[in-house]
Formats: sequence, structure tokens, C-alpha cells
Amino acid sequence: MKQARRWWWIVAAALLFGPAVPSAHAKFSAEEIRIGTETAKEIEKGSKLVTDEAILKRVNEIGQEIVRVSPDPTEKYVFKVIEDKDINAFALPGGFVYIYTGLLNAVESDDELAGVIAHEISHAALHHGLKLTKRQKPWDIAQMAVVLAGALANKDTSSGAYALSVLNTAKLNGYTVELEKEADAAGLKMITQSKYNPVGMLTFMERLDRSESRTGASVVELGIFRTHPYTPDRARALRAGLNNANIEINRRLTTRSIQAIAESVKIRDVEAAVVKIDGGVFVTLAPSEGAPALERARSVAEAVNRSLLANLRFQEVTASAAAPVIQGRGITLAELTDADAALVNKTPADAARSAASQLKDTLWREYLRTHS
Ligand SMILES: [Zn+2]
Repeated sequence: MKQARRWWWIVAAALLFGPAVPSAHAKFSAEEIRIGTETAKEIEKGSKLVTDEAILKRVNEIGQEIVRVSPDPTEKYVFKVIEDKDINAFALPGGFVYIYTGLLNAVESDDELAGVIAHEISHAALHHGLKLTKRQKPWDIAQMAVVLAGALANKDTSSGAYALSVLNTAKLNGYTVELEKEADAAGLKMITQSKYNPVGMLTFMERLDRSESRTGASVVELGIFRTHPYTPDRARALRAGLNNANIEINRRLTTRSIQAIAESVKIRDVEAAVVKIDGGVFVTLAPSEGAPALERARSVAEAVNRSLLANLRFQEVTASAAAPVIQGRGITLAELTDADAALVNKTPADAARSAASQLKDTLWREYLRTHS
């Protein structure tokens, strides 16, 4: 508490006597760097920083790749990782970017992490810290500093609660959403020029949105302020941005999403195998013409996974009427034998039809998850 209070006032004083806001593409001002450096020092006193080299290397490499495509690649950014299970990240004025370990555990690809980092770099590059203060009265600025301090890595519940209550004013919320969207748009633009897939920004946002609606509470926050993140709205804006840039939205390239896996299984003394998708059994296979069942299952799983990565849609899954064959977008995913069908007590045609509908259902559920 004591420590948190001390650095609120460093931030407050810095913001109160701060300079005019620089234009969008101007370099960090000396003032911004000073505020950032001082605040960073205070944050690091109260946080456990990660020293694991592999983690820091990953974050730094992704960070520097985004800096390379940022409005001013000569600007210096520092990336650090804070040991904290919250799904959070923030940027201080002057290019200090902090990522929580909780966020590293929540992203499902480097593309998603790059999306978060691009958003944070945008806050810094667009001088959002100072922009926020410019339109506020001095009293609001002091409050804002409290909010900023309370929002960042602060474990003290009383000050955290106060910060949240301040944020609950409509005025601050409205203001924050505007800047969040600005950072999303700028981040998306940058990442489109980087080596990362910009769809990662969207898939991460959509997952935050889902975990939020599941719990019914704002449990995850992203950005320089711990506010309600307005993810449905932001996800919609990102989808529109990707469409406008003619980027195909293939979520399977940036998420762990659904995958086919082959497993051995013994059915009535037969060394059989199954291909599972999303936990459910897609096909059950027997050995055939000298090929062990598991080998057949592996090649089916590979075919399915290739099709999934090519963005296979549920409407494209069919069971052929002529032969017990399951196809995706006209490509054969699995061909069933009489012995396969016997394992599940079905005719080959029925076994193929039920496999096709199993896969269709899985893809349909995935579609619903991502199109709320
Ligand atoms: Zn943000």
C-alpha cells in the first residue's frame, strides 16, 4: 500500500505538469520517457520479473519484429515479463511494455502474442498516456494517476477497488474505449506488415470475449487500464478491419483449436485405431491389407488436419453416396472398409455418413464459438 501510494504521486505529478500531447507519429518526448522510466522503476520494485531466458527471448523477438513495422522503428522499446497469473499486458509512456505470465499462458500462438504486443506498442506510439490527461481537468488527472497506479500490477485490494470505482464513471469508460479501439486499429495495421498473422489479434480477442461471457464478470483485462474491455465490440471492429484488408480469417492458423489425433484401441481382440477430433471419435479403423490400423489412422488424421488448416468449413464435409468415403472440400479424408464398419456394427455407408456428420457437428460447434 505504502509503496503503491508513493508511485501514484510520481505519476500524478508527472501528468499534472506534463507537456502538450505530441502528434501521433512524433517521437517519445523527454517527458514521456521520464514518466515511463520513473513509473517502470516503481512497478518493478513491487513485481516479480521473469528472468527465464527462453521466455524473455520469445517476447523480445516478437516485440522487436513489431517495432520494426511501427510508425518509428528507431524508437527504443523495452519488453519485460511480470510473474502474475492475470491475463494482462500494459505499456507505459516512453515505450516500456510489460507482459504478464498469465497472458503468455493464455495465448495459443506467437501470432496472438504479437497481436497483444502490437496493441500495446500502439498505446505508446500514439502517446495515449499523455492524450488521456490532456482532455482532463487537473483534479481528474490526479484521479487518473490513481487509476493508472491501481491498475498496474497492484495487489493491494483497497487501492485496486478505489481505482476500479473511479473507472466506473461513464466518462472514463467512454474515453478508454475510444483509445482501445485506436490501439487495435493501429496494431492491426502494423501486424499486417509484420511476419505474424494478423488474425491472431482477432482470435485472442474472441477468446477473451468468450471467457468473459462465460463467467459473467470482467475477469480479464487488456490494455493500459483495467477497465471493462468491451471485447464484442472490439472483436467486431477487428473482423471488419481484416475484411477491409482482404485478409482471410482462418482461425485455425493462430489458435490451437480443433485437431485430429490417432489413437490405438482394442475392439473385440482387434488391434484397431480411432481418429479423434475435439474429443469425439471421427472414424474407427481396422487393419487393412497389411497396414496396421494405427498407421491408417495417422494418415487420416493428417489429411483431416491439412484440411482444417486450409480452413475447411462444415458445409464442405460430405459422405460419398457411391462409396464409404468421407470427403472435405472434395478431398478424401477417410475411406472405410467392411472391417472398419463391422467394428462399429454399421454398414460401410452408414459408418461413413455418421463419421461425416460427426465432423460436421464439430466444425459447426467451432463456428458457433467464434461467431457469437
Ligand atoms: Zn489497450
